[in-house]
Amino acid sequence: MAYHPLCCILIVFLHCATGYLAEAEYIAYNTSSGIVPGKLNVHLVPHSHDDVGWLKTVDQYYVGSNNSIQGACVRNVLDSVVSALLEDKNRKFIYVEQAFFQRWWRQQSCAVKKIVKGLISSGQLEFINGGMCMHDEAAPYYVDMIDQTTLGHLFIKQEFGLTPRIGWQIDPFGHSAVQAYLLSSEVGFDALYFSRIDYQDREERKGIKNLEVVWSGSKTLGSSANVFTGIFPVNYEPPPGKFYFEVNDASPVIQDDPLLFDYNVQERVDDFVAAAISQANITRANHIMFTMGTDFKYQYAKSWFREMDKFIHYVNQDGRINVLYSTPSIYTDAKYAANQIWHLKTDDFFPYADGPNRYWTGYFSSRPAIKRYVRMMSGYYLAARQLEFLMGRNSSGPTTDGLADALAIAQHHDAVSGTEQQHVANDYAKRLYIGYTEAEKLVGLSLGCLTESLSSSSCSRPSTKFDQCPLLNLSYCPPSELEFSHGKSLVVLVYNPLGWKREDVIQIPVVSASVVVRDASNGKEIESQLLPIADISMRLRNRYVKAYLGVSSSATPKYWLAFPVSVPPLGFSTYVISSAAKGGSAATMSALYLPRSNDPHVEIGHGDLKLLYNVDKRELSYYSSSKNSVKSSLGQSFKYYIGAVGDKSDPQASGAYVFRPNGTTPIKSDSQVPLKILQGPLLDEVHQQVNPWIYQITRVYKANDHVEFEFIVGPIPIEDGIGKEIATQFTTTMTTNKTFYTDSNGRDFIKRVRDYRSDWELQVHQPVAGNYYPINLGIYVEDNKTELSLLVDRCMGGSSVQDGQIELMLHRRLLHDDGKGVVEALNETVCVNDECSGLTVQGKFYLKIDQLGEGSKWRRTAGQEIYSPLLISFSEQSGDSWANSHVPKYTAMEPSYNLPDSVAIITLQTRKDGSVLFRLAHLYEVGEDKDLSKLAVVDLKKVFPRKKICKITETNLSANQERSEMERKKLKWKVEGAPSSYEVVRGRPVNPSELLVELGPMEIRTFLLEFEYCNHLSDD
Ligand SMILES: [Zn+2]
Repeated sequence: MAYHPLCCILIVFLHCATGYLAEAEYIAYNTSSGIVPGKLNVHLVPHSHDDVGWLKTVDQYYVGSNNSIQGACVRNVLDSVVSALLEDKNRKFIYVEQAFFQRWWRQQSCAVKKIVKGLISSGQLEFINGGMCMHDEAAPYYVDMIDQTTLGHLFIKQEFGLTPRIGWQIDPFGHSAVQAYLLSSEVGFDALYFSRIDYQDREERKGIKNLEVVWSGSKTLGSSANVFTGIFPVNYEPPPGKFYFEVNDASPVIQDDPLLFDYNVQERVDDFVAAAISQANITRANHIMFTMGTDFKYQYAKSWFREMDKFIHYVNQDGRINVLYSTPSIYTDAKYAANQIWHLKTDDFFPYADGPNRYWTGYFSSRPAIKRYVRMMSGYYLAARQLEFLMGRNSSGPTTDGLADALAIAQHHDAVSGTEQQHVANDYAKRLYIGYTEAEKLVGLSLGCLTESLSSSSCSRPSTKFDQCPLLNLSYCPPSELEFSHGKSLVVLVYNPLGWKREDVIQIPVVSASVVVRDASNGKEIESQLLPIADISMRLRNRYVKAYLGVSSSATPKYWLAFPVSVPPLGFSTYVISSAAKGGSAATMSALYLPRSNDPHVEIGHGDLKLLYNVDKRELSYYSSSKNSVKSSLGQSFKYYIGAVGDKSDPQASGAYVFRPNGTTPIKSDSQVPLKILQGPLLDEVHQQVNPWIYQITRVYKANDHVEFEFIVGPIPIEDGIGKEIATQFTTTMTTNKTFYTDSNGRDFIKRVRDYRSDWELQVHQPVAGNYYPINLGIYVEDNKTELSLLVDRCMGGSSVQDGQIELMLHRRLLHDDGKGVVEALNETVCVNDECSGLTVQGKFYLKIDQLGEGSKWRRTAGQEIYSPLLISFSEQSGDSWANSHVPKYTAMEPSYNLPDSVAIITLQTRKDGSVLFRLAHLYEVGEDKDLSKLAVVDLKKVFPRKKICKITETNLSANQERSEMERKKLKWKVEGAPSSYEVVRGRPVNPSELLVELGPMEIRTFLLEFEYCNHLSDD
């Protein structure tokens, strides 16, 4: 790097030596300008938008391979930016995606690292956002957004001692309330910047200079979680007027050598001033930002910086405006110092449209299988970290670190969003699988240790082996497909990652019908039920086990064995399944319902909840629950939207991003296959072959007051040349007044009104697609008596396109690219032995109808159980002595202690340095529930009874600074309107001797704990 100054000296020397005295060839550009008060200041923010996987995989982007798809090499970006910054200390650059930066950093020499540290400490290179990726804001669950941000921030803190100040979500396709209040304000960001909002909204905002606002994303946390938000006027690229300077870009460079042709300094200065004034006209205060860069640019950074040097030099010489090298931090400080009053924005920026028929609402459901895989892995990661903590983190492995990294990358806005190319989707899945495999080993070891003994000093190699079944959804579970001969029995350990005691019914596939289930802690027999595995499930099992594992599944289970479990918080219960004794009791075989000739109706369920079906029409018709005195007509149907292929007036097709339906087709059961109804002591099942490619199993449990729907959709036929987007809808007679509610990243519920936006007068062009919202937790409607809620197991698009109706989009298969960059049709297929067919998707959603005002308890509690399912593992035993040699029941918390119903543990993790990261989340919004929307208290001494907390530090959400420090630094922006009198409830600082954590509604509190270890459960 040091040769640059030397080089200049040489050139000067040569010039002098030859006595050549024409016009100076070397021009020392003056790039030193700062902010000039009273002038319009143009902040040049050099940046590169580096997708952590999209058209190429993350590693291909990093190393620059597979360039026939896209000429992109992030290594070049970072290498060349460092050189370019060294050439001039006034130059600045921001870097965002830590997944790339960490790959690069690892490969640098000590000398380069030292240089880069210098650039960072001088402010020339600044980390912005700082998560592993720029996460999507529609499809991720809030816990994943927190985890991936925390992971990136930890590295920046450890390596550079810094905390990023700015949120930079420039590319995601719509913006969530959770991003604003939680992932920005609660992280400690001073501002959040992005570009993609609805085109009508943008026009409106330009006119009233509201592109920059103060966003209050949480009605519960109110002004305490506001964030200054800047929306770019066009996109995240340089302003209109040809200011792109990658090596091959077409924009005219400044030609300022009078000895050469095409001298254009004044022309280009005028272009620049015009672009600046145009942007200033729609912006408040004397500062505007030019985002100088775009996707994967600065591979030869000098070509950008050379031109920006010249613009700063000549435009400032011109004097009409002032230009400077800047960063979003400098820009934000300037905006703050301008002491303006800003418009207050509430709710969110969904859905996003960039034209009348271009609603980016398809990706809420695109790639439903990878969306589910990411969500499954998220819940698993949460549980695995708890077990890693309980066993003691072993740095030599196995650890959860690989899964953490894979999950972080999967939150990228072209990963879980489903907008990546197929080979890239495969790459994300592969990374998750590798991470899972290691975490699975860790979970097995930890459970082995916990069951064997609680008093030995340390445990790393337990003799008890536990296996798990990641393909349980395919009814594939080799450990449970055991022949119970020769006294062998199956031990089923059920771990509960929630902070509450939990009752549930689990199902595992078994081979034999003659089995009995016992509670291992007391030997008592437990009532159980057998349900024959459906033919369609067996077909799926055979095909997909072969596709995923490359092996044929040999032993064939015949039944699902269902039995109730009761599991303490942060703990486990154990059950033993063995062969039933001759003449003794055994699992009850489900009875097959036989229709009576005179009555077409059949009632399902023999607990509080009942569903009425019309057997002749093969339809659900009525819902009733004696427990909450609810009766309602309830119908369900399936339909598909025909994916538009574009027409003369608008070529826009429906694709990976965009949902553009070209009509709806109801799916009528053409096969006349009768309903199959199974009834038993624990649950009833209704099997519906809706059509040749849609199958649904509806379950009503005796002990549960909600309905579970398991759908199997696919392969979606395309032989007719029509792309199809499959939705299911529930209809009631409720009067819902165009209003429905959808969650923000699984957290707050936001009110939606059909064909309406609170920020502007909506022109409706797409009455369906324009009313679709991302659903991560659930969607509900209400009238003056009842509320109907649906909860989901992954992100999917949903809406209420008619009063009293809710619909969910389950699967999409499309034959055209939608022109938004991915250059592939969303047509997922699965191949086995070269025989390919469309992807079949399986999943669950859940339904409940409550009295008005009663629904949130179920949505919050069941939502938590869906996200954090019971973790089931298996061990084989000979004889009947499990409880003699093992701990059959365990809780990490004090016996009989439960967290309040309103609180969940969302992180419990031992970090590499031995400190423990601990997060608690209040699950209710203000006013959401009459009992639970209140301050809650968690007693940490009872959560960790075996360990003594010797130090507790409260931090910001991403755990890179103390909470008090973040609060102290927080900028207080002025907003329009009278100050709100609403008083936010937050917990008080924790007294280290009492160790009681208070949580106000919707509050998430993050702590770093240090323990004094009291027994073997501790770290070593
Ligand atoms: Zn992007």
